[in-house]
Parts: sequence; structure tokens; C-alpha cells
Amino acid sequence: MIAILLSLATFVSTFFGGLFAIKNKDRLHLIMGFAAGVLLGVVFFDILPEIIEQIQEHNFGLTGMTVALVMGFLVFHILEKAIALHHSHEDEYAEHKHPHIGIASALALIGHSFMDGVGIGLGFQVSSQVGILVAIAVISHDFTDGMNTVTLMLTNKNSPAKAKVFLLFDALAPVLGAASTLLFTISPHFLVLYLGFFAGFLLYIGASDILPEAHSKHSSWKTIFLTVFGAALIFVITRFI
Ligand SMILES: [Zn+2]
Repeated sequence: MIAILLSLATFVSTFFGGLFAIKNKDRLHLIMGFAAGVLLGVVFFDILPEIIEQIQEHNFGLTGMTVALVMGFLVFHILEKAIALHHSHEDEYAEHKHPHIGIASALALIGHSFMDGVGIGLGFQVSSQVGILVAIAVISHDFTDGMNTVTLMLTNKNSPAKAKVFLLFDALAPVLGAASTLLFTISPHFLVLYLGFFAGFLLYIGASDILPEAHSKHSSWKTIFLTVFGAALIFVITRFI
């Protein structure tokens, strides 16, 4: 139940990100720097120690989890670049942009947001500490999901009204993802694999999406400081809960 309540916060985060996308982006770069640090911290100070604990407790091998982790990183890399490749390919033939590319990209983001919610729900199946920290990681980066949804829709010549509909779907997706985990419980072995996959996926969006975006206009010491601060903050939080 807490998983659902926390996923409602992701709804707010995604929605605000989307609405801010139209306005001043500069301050958002600072928040993005912070979110990247939070993601790094959650992966290494919370999810990985939890995975290692589960592996030791149940005597699982390491290989499956490490493969799942790398797959989490690569699957999202490939999906994202496949959409981008399609995009640049289209541009060779015509100057104008296609609304369907915006829709395909937005749908990929909605799928990603659904996974965010599943991550929160499954985190709570491990322990409430893991659930809460995964929720922090998701809430802190989900406004960039909302922002990207709107930006992708608008730059590909979709109407603002259509962009808002997709933003709404993107904001609802984590809530549905979290709710879906109430319908099933998974075995500890599958849970370890999923958490590994999720760690790889969070690492990818932190390092390859959010951090470059935080520095896309200009780099600043403030942004760098906030990234370090985000990671350090999660370290401190994980010592206390
Ligand atoms: Zn997300």
C-alpha cells in the first residue's frame, strides 16, 4: 500500500517536470545534477548491498545477477538509440519532423515509467528500506521523464494538447506499475535478477541521460556539487534507515 502512495508522488514529480519543460530549463539542470547523484547513490549504497545480502542469504550465484545488471544498462541503451537512429535516418530524407517519432519516443518513456513503478513495488517486497530508497530514486528523476515526454512530443510537431495527454499517461505509468506488483509475489531468485536489471537501468539513465542533460547547456560547479551531494545524501540516509 505504501508503494502505491509513494508512486503517487512520482505522478506529481512527472507531471511537474512536464509542465516545467515549457518554461525556464536552467534551474532544472541543477535538479538534474542532483537526481543523477541520487541515482548513483541508490544503486551503490542501497540496491547492490541489498542484492548481495539476498545472494548470501539464499546462496545464489553471482553470474545471473551481474548479467541482469549489464542487460538493464544495455537494453535501455539500445532502445533509446534505436529510436534516435530511426530519427536521424528520417532526417536524411526530409527536413520536417514526424509526429509518430514523438509518439514512439513518448511510448518508450511511458514503458520506462511503468518499470519505475514495478521497481518500487518489488523493492517493497524485499524490505520497506529498499522500497523507500527505490521510490526516492524514481521520484527524483521522474520529473525528467515528464519533461522528456513533453519535449519529444513538441519537437516532433505534436500539438501541446496531445503532449499533455502523453504526459498524463507517463505520470500514471509508475502508479500502475507499483499497483501491478500487488497482484503477484516473485521468488527471491527472480527478485535478485530484477533488482540487478533495475540497478543497471538506473545507472544508465543517471549516467547517460540525466547527467549529460544536466550539463547540456553549460557546466557549472553548482551542478557538479549537487551531483556529489545527491550521492552523499543517499549514503547518509542508508546509514540511518
Ligand atoms: Zn523514470
